[in-house]
Amino acid sequence: MFTSTQGFAGDALDEVQSKGAHTLKTNGASIRREVPVPLRLADGFEVDSVVFSFSDLSDGLQHLAVGLGDFRNNPVPLVRPHSECLTGDVFGSARCDCGPQLLEAIHRIAAVGGYLLYLRQEGRGIGLYNKLDAYALQDAGLDTYDANLELHLPADGRDYRAVAEMLEVLGTRKIDLLSNNPDKALQLEGYGVDVRSRISTGVFLSDHNRNYLRAKVLRSGHFMALDDPK
Ligand SMILES: [Zn+2]
Repeated sequence: MFTSTQGFAGDALDEVQSKGAHTLKTNGASIRREVPVPLRLADGFEVDSVVFSFSDLSDGLQHLAVGLGDFRNNPVPLVRPHSECLTGDVFGSARCDCGPQLLEAIHRIAAVGGYLLYLRQEGRGIGLYNKLDAYALQDAGLDTYDANLELHLPADGRDYRAVAEMLEVLGTRKIDLLSNNPDKALQLEGYGVDVRSRISTGVFLSDHNRNYLRAKVLRSGHFMALDDPK
């Protein structure tokens, strides 16, 4: 089982060690292109990256892998699967914590070598317009999960098979996972990825996203130390 709480690099989770059976089939996925892309982040941080595109990922979406730091020589790269959030990543929306999480991930991965996997799963898989509809329902009092259900959409429609496929064609089957989401680790294990350890991200709490983060903790078991999660 998957029971860790908080921690940073070195928090090995024995429970998440490989179950031995690597059964993933990539369905013929392959690297389509790799191109160097120098990054200059909103906080002024500048770092070189290599952006990978893929052919024939099983979900047909245009996910990216962003190689950072000494990713080619790190036998157990630090990996952050980040679900696209246009409002948070691009416009700095304070309704969620995606923007600060993305910046933190790039900093931390660049320091040790690994991949940011940028997943085109806006709104936990429901799409941009539906996410905005859900925001309106949240303003009427529903939490982020119940709002999706009210729209007859899954509370969390994300599937991480494509993550496993990307890692496999990048030549890595063993990772340190930068995530607070227990479902990501469990799904990746199920797809044959060896998750050596799960490393928690920082907590980016504000008056605007307090209810959103609270729902993540209470509804889907995210590992996050809020001052008052109840
Ligand atoms: Zn977001």
